[in-house]
Amino acid sequence: MSSVFSDARQRLHTLGQLSGISAAVIESLSRPKATLCTSLSILMDDGSTQYFDAYRCQYSSHLGPCKGGIRFHSNVSQDEIQALALWMTIKCAVVDLPFGGGKGGVNVDPKVLSRMELERLSRAYMRAMADFVGPDKDIPAPDVYTNARIMGWMRDEFEVIKRHKQPAVITGKPVNLGGSLGREEATGRGAFLVTEFLRSKEGKAPEDIRVAIQGFGNAGYNIAKLLFDTGYKIVAISDSKGAIYDAAGLDVDRIKQLKDECRSLDSDYCESSVCESTTYKSISHEELFELDVELLVPAALENAITIKNVKKVKARWITEVANGPISVAADEILFKKGTVIIPDVLANSGGVIVSYFEWVQNKAAYPWSLEEVQLRLQEKLKISFDEMWQYQHQSENTSLRMAAYAKALKKLEQVIKMRGTKEYFSNAEN
Ligand code: NAD
Repeated sequence: MSSVFSDARQRLHTLGQLSGISAAVIESLSRPKATLCTSLSILMDDGSTQYFDAYRCQYSSHLGPCKGGIRFHSNVSQDEIQALALWMTIKCAVVDLPFGGGKGGVNVDPKVLSRMELERLSRAYMRAMADFVGPDKDIPAPDVYTNARIMGWMRDEFEVIKRHKQPAVITGKPVNLGGSLGREEATGRGAFLVTEFLRSKEGKAPEDIRVAIQGFGNAGYNIAKLLFDTGYKIVAISDSKGAIYDAAGLDVDRIKQLKDECRSLDSDYCESSVCESTTYKSISHEELFELDVELLVPAALENAITIKNVKKVKARWITEVANGPISVAADEILFKKGTVIIPDVLANSGGVIVSYFEWVQNKAAYPWSLEEVQLRLQEKLKISFDEMWQYQHQSENTSLRMAAYAKALKKLEQVIKMRGTKEYFSNAEN
């Protein structure tokens, strides 16, 4: 059976070796610090009890408290959560945040739960994790099928247990419960900004860039909206139910409006699909990846592009909004073909960057304006993007992903060596 965590570790080993990282350091980053696995028992509305497997992985705390989202999805497993937590470790180091990597999740299809069941599940998750997480230990945030409301319930549950206010225990909260302005759209905005940096390096006009976007949730919608408003031509969009296409360009605002109109008022998840927009032609999930476009944006789940479909991918650029959307084997093929990939650890880091801003605001009890959040996000991403770009252009046969891993692993290496490795102690006299 394929393992996302094995793939993530293989990438760590390959890119670590290529960047000259010591074997001891790679080895120490090849396993999580701790993973808590538990089962949540939830009283359902009909009086029955159901059990859901739940996880929280603290992968590395070398650079600070662990940080990473919580996913509610029926594919969630210990293997997937550990891979996502390893990627969070790299991501926080790439964009110079004082955080290590973590991730959590529950194996559940949240769309079939009532709102009361969803609240009980969210609170049960926090009850199970309350001694494991904390503002200076491990700080969760939203991910696939979790949102600000769920983060608000979890903050509340944590405070009921601890009997004092701890807004910094979780990020991505509603603004009136200590959330940051700009957090909701931060992942999409960050991905948009790095795409814009690439466009300006390549000297192309937005109108000349045709875009296909897989996934129309928080991250996918927000990058689609910003690209659309800037003049990029969005020709295809998909969600879990299907995909739509128009060579002349889709109207992102209209599609969003239609999706929202179909959402029943008390629902936490969108029950409708982009495919209900009858104005546009329906295409299959597979066809979206094969379109002749300049930019492809996978913004759903892992392994969207694998050895099975990579040869049909025609896009010149890929902005990896999802975590791990390209398998290691497919990545090698795209690299040889010359496809420019803005890697997930940079492309979707806008979310964790603004989560960091939220944590800082909570600790200082001093909220920032939206302008300040957006300006600081842009500054941080520009520095990181330019570093990757420069590294790639000064080294031979290197991708932006290799550049990102080289930077992150060197940073982690310094800290791990300081704490003691064979090399560190054998050179201690020098
Ligand atoms: P979300 O729950 O808001 O949306 C997920 C979207 O993906 C939905 O539109 C869903 O219909 C769609 N989808 C699911 N399976 C699909 C499939 N097979 N084909 C096409 N579409 C499919 O989730 P999100 O927060 O937007 O997260 C999307 C990705 O971005 C994930 O990989 C997540 O880890 C990553 N990410 C999110 C954040 C964040 O702050 N939300 C931060 C960093 C990375």
